[in-house]
Amino acid sequence: MDFELTPEQREIQGLTRELAEGEIVPNAAAWDREHRFPAELFPKLADLGLMGVCVPEEYGGAGADFLSYVLVLEELSRADAGVGVTVAVHTSATTLPIMAFGTDEQKARFVPPLARGEQIGAFALTESGSGSDAGSLRTRAEQDGDGWTITGAKQWITNGAVAGTLVAFARTDASTAGPRGVSCFVLDREHVRVTREEEKLGLNSSNTSDLAIEGAWVGLDRLLHEEGRGFRVAMATLDGGRIGIAAQALGIAQAAYDVARAYALEREQFGRRIADFQAIQWKLADMATEIDAARLLVYRAAWLKGQGRPHTAEGAKAKLYASEMARRQTAEAIQVLGGYGYTKEFPVERYYRDAKVTEIYEGTSEIQRLVIARAILGRQLRDEPVPSK
Ligand SMILES: Cc1cc2nc3c(=O)[nH]c(=O)nc-3n(C[C@H](O)[C@H](O)[C@H](O)COP(=O)(O)OP(=O)(O)OC[C@H]3O[C@@H](n4cnc5c(N)ncnc54)[C@H](O)[C@@H]3O)c2cc1C
Repeated sequence: MDFELTPEQREIQGLTRELAEGEIVPNAAAWDREHRFPAELFPKLADLGLMGVCVPEEYGGAGADFLSYVLVLEELSRADAGVGVTVAVHTSATTLPIMAFGTDEQKARFVPPLARGEQIGAFALTESGSGSDAGSLRTRAEQDGDGWTITGAKQWITNGAVAGTLVAFARTDASTAGPRGVSCFVLDREHVRVTREEEKLGLNSSNTSDLAIEGAWVGLDRLLHEEGRGFRVAMATLDGGRIGIAAQALGIAQAAYDVARAYALEREQFGRRIADFQAIQWKLADMATEIDAARLLVYRAAWLKGQGRPHTAEGAKAKLYASEMARRQTAEAIQVLGGYGYTKEFPVERYYRDAKVTEIYEGTSEIQRLVIARAILGRQLRDEPVPSK
């Protein structure tokens, strides 16, 4: 077993941390307050190769491995979780499924502009009536000449209003209501209309939008993978995407711990630093332990995916643990700071708000537990309804 990062992984981690400390940390509170998507930041990430870090060089990426990408998400999310999710959805939910399921022509056409950061990507699966049960989606694609006409509405799409390329799911077989009749398409900006930008508890520097697809015609060359096999694209994408969300949770928790530790060593009450009280020491010890445990789960899942090995249950465990840990420990960070933690003077209240969503998107904690249970119990669960997301 080797717990060391490679020199290349360390270099990418260091580069990202430097950029995050210079360009993101000083602005994160303002972006949160103003609910502003920092469009000017992404060309800077692209200059460092961070918009396609694990995409092969021949497709415009940096050619690094999946663990390097996870390190990038951890560092970005440590600075600003909204920036973290923008890059996560752009990369593992948009660029990578096109790489994995696209034809040579589709990869050559759609991937380089994404990997070079000339376009931002989005993943449009969720609808108002289909969240965890994503296979029941109602957006329709009907065969029309040499292509498809797509009609429907998507909800809470990260990057929805800023994306140039979207991976979107629609039902091509109206005779089924479940996952089997779903296909996957690659859409452009002009195929969708933004109907609403969502107001959220946190993650305010990230764009979350509802989209209408109003009879958009696309050619056959925009069908990704086989007709009726789109749900497999969605599930395989979320298997990898979850590891990214786990890394996001890890980054948020690390940021909260860093602030809590520094504060505990400075703040004095009863004539002593609060770090001298055992109650505070134990909080910091628990935080450090749980962050370490999450990091090991996240890096293991990323390594397995990078090796091309099965990672469904390991990714679900990483996301389940890291996200619940981040919610718990960001709350503890507020407790260490007392009243100051509850104010906007320190960033821990933002970390607390941002952490919560990691338990919800790319599959809720309940769905992660179902995925893990299925892996543990296998065929014994054959007759249970299969959760889809
Ligand atoms: C900020 C944000 C960004 C998002 N970005 C995207 C995006 O880019 N693309 C996209 O497609 N979607 C996106 N989503 C949607 C997200 O993936 C869904 O919100 C999530 O999958 C849960 O679906 P739901 O909200 O409809 O909850 P529901 O599915 O309605 O679940 C409600 C509750 O019931 C529980 N539940 C549901 N089914 C079961 C079951 N079988 N067993 C036990 N418990 C169950 C859930 O765990 C949850 O606690 C985003 C959401 C948010 C909030």
